[in-house]
Amino acid sequence: MLQENIGRKAMLISMLAKDGFDPEAAEKLYKIEMQVTKHFEYGGVVPDYFELQDIEIVKESKKVYWVSKTTESICPFCGEKSTERANEYYYKEIQDIPVNGIAVFHACRVNKYKCQNPGCKHKIFTERTEGFCDEDARKTERFKKYCVMQAMQSNCHSAEQVLKLEGAKVSNDTISRYTKAVAAKVIEENLGNNDVEVISVDDVNLRKGDKSSSCTVFIDEKTHRVLIIIRGANKEAVAQVLEKFTSSKIFSRDRAGAYSSAAAEANKVQVADRFHLMKNAQAAVKEALMSIIPARIFVCEGDGWIRADGQGDGVSTLNDDYFYVPDEIVNKHVRLAKLTEKQEVKYRNTLKILELSGKGMRTADIAKSLGINMMDVQRYRRVAVETLKSVDEKIEKNIAMMNSSQQQRFEKIATRDIKTIGPKAHPSRESIVEPFKETVIAMLKEGHSHRTIHPVLKEMGFEGSPNAIYQYIVKVRKENMEEAKPNELEKPPVLNLESVTHGTVYRSILKEASKGRAKIGKNNPSENKCNLQENDSVAKTHKRDLSASDDSSLPPEIRKIMYGESKSNEAGNPMGTSDESDSLEGNTEAKKKTDYGKGVYMFPVLQVLVQFLKDLCNVFDTRSIEALDAFISKYINSEIYSFAQYASGLQDDYNAVKNSLLYPDISNGPVEGINSRIKMKHRRSAGREGLELLNAYMVIPIKLINPYIRI
Ligand SMILES: [Zn+2]
Repeated sequence: MLQENIGRKAMLISMLAKDGFDPEAAEKLYKIEMQVTKHFEYGGVVPDYFELQDIEIVKESKKVYWVSKTTESICPFCGEKSTERANEYYYKEIQDIPVNGIAVFHACRVNKYKCQNPGCKHKIFTERTEGFCDEDARKTERFKKYCVMQAMQSNCHSAEQVLKLEGAKVSNDTISRYTKAVAAKVIEENLGNNDVEVISVDDVNLRKGDKSSSCTVFIDEKTHRVLIIIRGANKEAVAQVLEKFTSSKIFSRDRAGAYSSAAAEANKVQVADRFHLMKNAQAAVKEALMSIIPARIFVCEGDGWIRADGQGDGVSTLNDDYFYVPDEIVNKHVRLAKLTEKQEVKYRNTLKILELSGKGMRTADIAKSLGINMMDVQRYRRVAVETLKSVDEKIEKNIAMMNSSQQQRFEKIATRDIKTIGPKAHPSRESIVEPFKETVIAMLKEGHSHRTIHPVLKEMGFEGSPNAIYQYIVKVRKENMEEAKPNELEKPPVLNLESVTHGTVYRSILKEASKGRAKIGKNNPSENKCNLQENDSVAKTHKRDLSASDDSSLPPEIRKIMYGESKSNEAGNPMGTSDESDSLEGNTEAKKKTDYGKGVYMFPVLQVLVQFLKDLCNVFDTRSIEALDAFISKYINSEIYSFAQYASGLQDDYNAVKNSLLYPDISNGPVEGINSRIKMKHRRSAGREGLELLNAYMVIPIKLINPYIRI
């Protein structure tokens, strides 16, 4: 039935005529029908004084014809009311929110009036349709809001796509213009707002690590609403904004420097934010960690490692607290592992490199002192863990093999006559090897054979052949079984090596420092803002994101593909999910604890880092000024540069830091969430959005752009 280019009026009247209505009655019915349609479809959308004339569907759009029925209007230029119509109309076509996948246009005929104020420059004016659309607009107010609402969900480009699917005819430039216009109004209002009591200020780098993209965000601490985002984080820019907020008293911000002096200029009470104080403290710890230990540390364990405990010569600047392996142990390992010449070189060099870098020697110096090139030093160090491990495995294998073959050989000798000994063999006491008996027996017990014993005896003055030694060994064994029985070979001293990264040590330091603080956080959740493990919790949520949720609608086989075998099993047990995450946490904690333990074992100075964080937590937990003073005086002259720097930062900013203890309710915590939202917005729109649009996304309250509020 739907025919193009046939209006509702024509269709209705022709159908009524078919049913036998006379044209006059049909016309009357049509008018009533239009009123009803207006009430149900466009009530509150178009002004009351608009009369619906007709509805047409043309191609992919719906046209709704309206005629304004006003009898008076107010001149927009002088404000005088006019009742005298001019003899002309103004026609405009205004786009509305699309319906059923097609665009909707209101074709309006509005009246023109003569201005009756003789003093007015304008003789004739077009009546305004406030709330419906602007004077020269092409879209209704509510359609503009609809566009902005779509843009706020993602960005202008996506909004354009969505709107096009819905049938609307609008470009992303237009959407962006509308969005900016709304934002401009909101920001203007924000800047004059005297209800803002506490302003939070923070800086955010739109591009990670790029200072030139830094922006300052102003937030109403109470409502958590973004007031404005400005380019730069310098004093002048910040001061300019602060001046606008005459009534705001307290100013919570993250760092000294630009913000601090701007706030001082504007006479604001300053409160340093605990969240950032803690964050900066963590950065200080990280820096200290970097300067103290190398990016990749090797933890040496086992009795083969000998600790050189501080017997330095006092002249060298090198670390005198390092681990090394004595030559005899190295030799033993080399022999038992039966290394080839090449392998032996690698093994010895690796151990030497570990020792020297433990001393704090640089790669170039290590290379020089070992007479190998730097690339090799790096290569050896990179595979050090594997090298030691493989040697260890070889030793284990060889020992097991040698023990079993010796056992066999011994049993063979013990049970059978040996062909090599003639029937008239001399007793072993008459052998030329007899004077070296003790050495031979001792070496036998260690698993040596006549071939390896021979060179040793030769050194001692023995002049016979290896075969003489062999004969002697056989005879000794025959005469006295137990004496010559080889000992079970024992494993040489253990040389375990484990490589631990910086990050692991850092995380375990945080964990260690926060021990015993958990209770405080639980009793008073609002106090949890300076939690040390913010990094960990982030990691945890990420982990959780990657496992299947219980309400997954995927068929099992696809779920298996998506999450892998084990994950799908876990997901299949909805009761197990919470337990699983708990136990996972427990495991990592246990692992980190040992890592920290190892770290401290290698670098006792790590305890200082933990203490630093503990002291700081204590300041925040007790909120005592004395604790703060004690903290500053303890660390301001610290040998660790970043700690001294941090403490002197607190000193410089003393009042603001003190205020943060006095005003525990003020926190920049919520601002951080906004920061990540800003970054996400900026990144998701691939950086093509300017600062103005970014502002728009952050400042416009969603309520303001609800398109369905009736006029
Ligand atoms: Zn006028």
